[in-house]
Amino acid sequence: MDQALPPGLYIVATPIGNLGDITLRAIETLRGVSVIACEDTRVTGKLLRLLGIKARMIRYDDHAGEGDRQRLIDTMLTEPVALVSDAGTPLVSDPGFRLVREARAAGAAITSLPGPSAAIVALTLSGLPSDRFLFAGFLPSKAKARADMLGELADVPATLIFYETAPRLADALAAIDEVLPGRELAVARELTKKFEECRTGSSAELAAHYGAHPPKGEIVLMVGPPPEKSAPGEADVDAMLLALLADTKASQAAAQVARETGLDRKLLYARAMELRGK
Ligand code: SAM
Repeated sequence: MDQALPPGLYIVATPIGNLGDITLRAIETLRGVSVIACEDTRVTGKLLRLLGIKARMIRYDDHAGEGDRQRLIDTMLTEPVALVSDAGTPLVSDPGFRLVREARAAGAAITSLPGPSAAIVALTLSGLPSDRFLFAGFLPSKAKARADMLGELADVPATLIFYETAPRLADALAAIDEVLPGRELAVARELTKKFEECRTGSSAELAAHYGAHPPKGEIVLMVGPPPEKSAPGEADVDAMLLALLADTKASQAAAQVARETGLDRKLLYARAMELRGK
């Protein structure tokens, strides 16, 4: 970069395992900023040494006090400041959300430099539908909270992506087997590293495999979308309407059946009125 970087916040994605995935723009930017805000100065210090970059680092996470965050925002109004996390894209299950929100409110210029993120690398490797996906971060570690979260996501017509840790994979697979049975799953491990693997199968198959070969390293767990519901037949629709008409108005019965089946509410209302007249 020949010219000095303008003031502002530069969100810089860094490799998730393979140093070769750093972008030219990331290197130029990390070289050009006045200060790098990072989760852990030892981790980022190692990356900078490998890249031959000398830069001032300060530790930042979203639990930092208001005063620290405000100082960082004041700095980015007059100097270029980078935000990096230990690995991958900042803000994706990593610190930065509050900083970006408050920097935006303070009128700072903000640029995000694209680069690796384990969720996207895993999705593209998995062979699961990629036209719609929902990134849900880490599953809770407590069984009840984990099952509740999976229950909330059960009807989402998209591939679900979770970050997971090796010691918790078995519990997560067991919970998915219980709450979301019959789905196609993928486990992506050690992405971009020497022992990268991506294994697909049912929750029972993957639980059996990882039970026999306890996993190591970093993991992304993906769950394929639910099977598409087939449209109910006329007799089923009538039965649903009749059951609801026993204690609700025709308009409410039609609205509920429309929600459950995706059928047209006006046509259902007309049918409900017919059934009521019989
Ligand atoms: N911000 C990062 C990103 O964009 O990917 C994610 C940070 S989050 C704290 C760390 C989690 O990301 C790990 O527990 C793991 O689930 C996932 N992860 C990071 N690197 C990975 C890799 N090389 N292979 C598989 N999963 C990885």
